[in-house]
Amino acid sequence: MSSNGSGLDRREFFRHSVGMGAGALALGRLPADLGGRVRGAHGVPLIITSHTNETGQNAMREAWEILDSGGSALDAVEKGANVIEVDPEDSSVGYGGLPNEDGVVQLDASIMDGRTYNAGSVASLENIKTPASVARLVMERTDHVMLVGKGALDFARSFGFEENNLLTAKSREAWLRWRERRGESDDWGPPDHLRDRGGNQTGFLDGPDEFHYGTTNVLAVDENGDIAGITTTSGLSWKINGRIGDSPVIGAGLYVDNEVGAAGATGRGEDVIKSCASYYIVMRMRDGRSPQQACEDALEMIVNKYRAISNDFIPSEKFVAINKDGEYGCARMRGRGAARITFRNEDGLEAYEGTQRYQVSG
Ligand code: ASP
Repeated sequence: MSSNGSGLDRREFFRHSVGMGAGALALGRLPADLGGRVRGAHGVPLIITSHTNETGQNAMREAWEILDSGGSALDAVEKGANVIEVDPEDSSVGYGGLPNEDGVVQLDASIMDGRTYNAGSVASLENIKTPASVARLVMERTDHVMLVGKGALDFARSFGFEENNLLTAKSREAWLRWRERRGESDDWGPPDHLRDRGGNQTGFLDGPDEFHYGTTNVLAVDENGDIAGITTTSGLSWKINGRIGDSPVIGAGLYVDNEVGAAGATGRGEDVIKSCASYYIVMRMRDGRSPQQACEDALEMIVNKYRAISNDFIPSEKFVAINKDGEYGCARMRGRGAARITFRNEDGLEAYEGTQRYQVSG
């Protein structure tokens, strides 16, 4: 029985980093004098996601079918993102994502197509399970890059997208629990005279406190060497109504350069926006850094900014990247979960563990 629930043996599934640039070492490069881009010879086609659960693995399996039959990176990333978006059990992306402070699920997503140097995004989109596909239509069917809120919803409606309440029973319960526990100074929760003054939660909804970061990045390079990417999310849980994170901001939550590679971010979007992190990572790769090194460079850049101001603040970003040669990388702040991605190339479906670089605490 596999321990990751995927049918894969754990040892087969995980490919560990052995340090800086490990993503590059894992696959090797085609010697330049052989020329050309030979399918499979150096890890192309390739698709990765920052999701490492079973849904992430299924997303890679389905998206791989497109790449394996000669399809485009753009179609593959859309397929992969949609698989994760429609999963009601995933509380960080699409349907079932945790809502804002008013109990409304507001989704952000972006897409970028390296081949055409085109991009599209939607932000604060309600009622549509697949925001990545709406972002793709913004990219392909308009001369705009970004649509927000009601405008994005009207746009989706015009293309026949079905509307749904994106709150599931599970995500509603999590929100109600958060609302009841939010503070003592409001009136949500049991009547005052029945409250437990010993600090226990008696009378409140049972269950853990939940606060979520969570997003998925899907990046691919196809057999022609064309590169595409998507970042899609329900954003920070309990966010202020109308808050937009990094995911729909091109250059922050996602960036693709067809000559170089692609990068995506998850974690506290405010940091990612200020640092233009995905663009920075791709530019580092343009300067010759491996995807792994470039992801680590971006973490270091953000940490250094905050260290100069507040040593107590712990940033929470996770960065993922691929390059045109089919190399990949991932880096994340220590103590914020594993630095893993799921990827699929001709070697099969695997997980790669990058590096956790910084412990930033007081
Ligand atoms: N980056 C997302 C946001 O800030 C959240 C996340 O990735 O956890 O909306």
